[in-house]
Amino acid sequence: MTIDTTRRGALATLGAAAATSILAPAAFAAAPIAGKQAAGVYRNRIGDMEITIVTDGARTMAMPDTFVRNVAKEEVGKALEASAMSAARMTVPYNPMLVNTGGKLVLVDTGNGQGDAKGEVGLLLPNMTAAGVDPKQVDIVVITHFHGDHILGLRMADGSLAFPNAEVKVPAAEYAFWMSDDNMAKAPDAMKGAFALVRRIFKDMGDRLTQYAMDKEVAPGMTPFATPGHTPGHTSLALQSGNSRMLLQGDVTNIPALFLRNPGWHVMFDMDAAKAEETRRRFYDRASADKVLVGGFHFPFPALGYVEKDGASNFRLVPVVWNTTL
Ligand SMILES: [Zn+2]
Repeated sequence: MTIDTTRRGALATLGAAAATSILAPAAFAAAPIAGKQAAGVYRNRIGDMEITIVTDGARTMAMPDTFVRNVAKEEVGKALEASAMSAARMTVPYNPMLVNTGGKLVLVDTGNGQGDAKGEVGLLLPNMTAAGVDPKQVDIVVITHFHGDHILGLRMADGSLAFPNAEVKVPAAEYAFWMSDDNMAKAPDAMKGAFALVRRIFKDMGDRLTQYAMDKEVAPGMTPFATPGHTPGHTSLALQSGNSRMLLQGDVTNIPALFLRNPGWHVMFDMDAAKAEETRRRFYDRASADKVLVGGFHFPFPALGYVEKDGASNFRLVPVVWNTTL
């Protein structure tokens, strides 16, 4: 190759390089700032089952004065700061999970539903789309308990069913508690709205709604077990395929940086705090001894990890490592 030292020759060389776009990007504007989160979807395998965490989003709020009922707000703030979170503003994530058992597509809990003005939550359906799943494909929705962040997503904003072909399975004890007119009449005013919400969501479901008992499969390889305290009929699920196992805890704890670290701390949402603590200690003693994968609805996305003992009576969460292959 001869070297052309004329200006015309140099420009021609530059033009050729630009045409192959080796130099072009650096010469123009920087990529625009996205300013919003990408789809929140994470897959893993449990034996022959495929699980997909499909996040409903995360809500950031001013720290309530009594978020932990039996601990001073300052101490809670210190625990949050120790985990690189703000003491003044806390973030609670919401992570429903899809399980493809091979024969059935099962959704566990449904998130906050539509209509969040800030767009922080209610992202289950768009994230499902991002995961390549049509809500019409869901065969079974399993509910762990009847708090709004777990059941609101059963309905669209217009009241229609978000998963029109799904059977809806709910814990019998939970259904009995919330559907009791007696319990509703006895409840403090602050809780009356929760009773009304349960009635609105489960109204007119007919025989698509079934109540499940403990220790009997709700879908192939998915067995519920009682973890009461957070609510009277709160339920967790054990998944098993071949030699692989997983525990899906529901709301045995809220944010792990607070309540796995300190299982004696009572979150304001626990309806029977003493029973919830007893359940929590039993659950994590078992999960840490068995070294079994745990999914937590309010764990940080992708909401999967292993529980380790930290001293005599505390625990910590070791998050899963992202992997390309399943
Ligand atoms: Zn919850």
